[in-house]
Amino acid sequence: MMYYPQYCEAAVIASVILLVMYFLRQNYYTTKNQIFLAMIVDNLLASIVNICTVYTVSYPKNYSVGLNYFLNGLYYALYNFLAILFMLYIAALVKVRFYRKLIQYIAGVFFIVEMALISTTEYTHWVFYFDEDLRYVKNTGVTVLYILAFASVIIANIAIIKCNKDFNAYQVISLTGFLVTILSSVIIQMIFPEYLITNFILAMIMFFIYSAFENPAYYLYSDTQCYNRFSFLQTIRRKERIKHEYVVIAIKIKEFDYIEYSLGQQNAEKMSYKIAERLYRTFGNKVYNVNLNMFAIVSNHNADEKKIIEKVKNTFEEAFELDTEEKKITYSIDIAVAAVRITDFKITELYMEQVLESITSSEDEKIYTTEELEKIVDEIRRNKQISRVLERAIHEDKFDIYYQPIFEITSKSFRGAEALLRLIDKDMGFISPDEFIPIAEKNGQIIEIGEMVMRKVCQFIRDSEVTKLNVDYIDVNLSPIQCRYDNLGEKYINIINEYDVNTQQLNLEITETAETELFTVRTLKNIMDYMSGKGVDFSIDDYGSGFATIDYLLEFPVQTVKIDKSILWQAMEKEEAMLVLEHTIKLLKAIGKKIVVEGVETTEMRDILIEFGCDYLQGYYYSKPLPQEQYLQFLREHNNQSSESGC
Ligand code: C2E
Ligand code: CA
Ligand code: CA
Repeated sequence: MMYYPQYCEAAVIASVILLVMYFLRQNYYTTKNQIFLAMIVDNLLASIVNICTVYTVSYPKNYSVGLNYFLNGLYYALYNFLAILFMLYIAALVKVRFYRKLIQYIAGVFFIVEMALISTTEYTHWVFYFDEDLRYVKNTGVTVLYILAFASVIIANIAIIKCNKDFNAYQVISLTGFLVTILSSVIIQMIFPEYLITNFILAMIMFFIYSAFENPAYYLYSDTQCYNRFSFLQTIRRKERIKHEYVVIAIKIKEFDYIEYSLGQQNAEKMSYKIAERLYRTFGNKVYNVNLNMFAIVSNHNADEKKIIEKVKNTFEEAFELDTEEKKITYSIDIAVAAVRITDFKITELYMEQVLESITSSEDEKIYTTEELEKIVDEIRRNKQISRVLERAIHEDKFDIYYQPIFEITSKSFRGAEALLRLIDKDMGFISPDEFIPIAEKNGQIIEIGEMVMRKVCQFIRDSEVTKLNVDYIDVNLSPIQCRYDNLGEKYINIINEYDVNTQQLNLEITETAETELFTVRTLKNIMDYMSGKGVDFSIDDYGSGFATIDYLLEFPVQTVKIDKSILWQAMEKEEAMLVLEHTIKLLKAIGKKIVVEGVETTEMRDILIEFGCDYLQGYYYSKPLPQEQYLQFLREHNNQSSESGC
């Protein structure tokens, strides 16, 4: 029979084009696209070998029998191997572990059977043989090989149907197309055996699969060429799997919130792209754009962290130019950069994003060791656990409020108290608010918690005898995060009204922290102005512990300042600190603020503070925070005859 190799030649051309397309594009290494690459190469080789067999089979006498057996055998091997690769490709796409393993197992068995059949055919003549006239004759084994190849494709398609959640419609169509086209091409091949059409059709189908599955949008930001978050997590997963030591450099854009606030979301995104572009130019495809304000560089074990950090810093030395709708602006970007070397592989991609956040939020330019990293991961785990406990506590109303009496020096009675949250979990035991409040602030649970505290305190004021016991006000802590929402003021005033409480009976304590964004500060001022107008007083909490600025004292409606306990405690140790305390109190009094000092633990502290002219004192010297009933009992004992309180 005369064979026509033209379709095979077209298949070679198509496969080469596909190969060029594949390599021209920046690929992200995944098992899936490595298998796909193997499929293209396999089909290319199969087409070339097929063309060769056209000549050797047509002119058998010109070639040795051994060569003929080898080339035809090789063709069958490559052809069937393509079906095996297809199964593995689908296995790599399927997310259900059971199906993935099952397909891989079947693929392994098929591979062994097929290769055994093909490699022994020279002696068994089972697949094909050459008769006395050196004519090429197909035998029963060919049918078996075809059946196995079909079975592979059908099994892969069953997996697609079973796991259809993992695929979109276009992908299902292109994969099912693979099945239908292969079946029909073999039928055509059987009717017109002289036209070697199969490889060409396979190459065409691969174009479809390429566009449906090997879509760079899955792993790449097309605007910047930077790998995305998905690729980052994949890379970490792969590193964990192959257990190769590696280095991650985290780069955080420090004032991204501010950029977002001042230039708007769209321009902030543009800025992030600019940064990605520049990092990509320096570090190529080692850079990952994990999210708008976080980048990571993943390098192998012999990378020099210090040098990379230096290089990163150099990259940011030059300011960025941004074209906004109105004007061109030049912007210097401040970054936090830190590195971590991973030698022990328990981090998993589950924690990696939080690790990046954590290492860029503390010390700058630090290189973390594996032990330090382990601590960070343990903390992340604990934080997650606490977050779950908080969720449960919110829903099951498991929080308690304790009250710490505040002593008024002039009246010698406990005219105030601070409401403090307490949480005891059945598994984790007592969790300090110092630990859970920052977590609740990070994940937004503070909004619900804050409202709940406000309700409980109002209910306590309304339903208990606390007012009758001469308590003028209760302090409630307000987290700056709650102030991101402009309507917080109205919400709190509504709650206060709902419980029929006088607004003057509440005092809100606010702490300014370094993280308080400018945006929050502005809404905070609106909220404070609004609530002040309604009669609620405000205190600055933890004054002197770091961040409170003069602005707060002068611009905000603040009546009271609470001096942080650390200032008092230092004053007891050092003379200079005592001077600072004394003059701070003087200064604050001079501008008309009332002063509370917390952390009063001894008589000595009390006497000094009274001498300095403080208005209120709070601390273990008087009382620890007490549960509601005990607090009322405390008031009954101390507030009724204030002059004999003995304090
Ligand atoms: P804070 O607002 O500075 O509250 C004062 C903390 O100092 C309380 O810790 C109190 O028990 C403790 N304290 C008071 N006097 C003394 C003393 O003489 N010696 C010692 N060693 N400690 C004293 P606590 O209750 O553990 O609260 C810790 C922090 O948790 C609070 O610090 C506050 O920032 C936060 N927090 C507590 N409840 C709430 C709440 O309802 N909302 C918000 N946003 N934060 C809260
Ligand atoms: Ca407080
Ligand atoms: Ca405080």
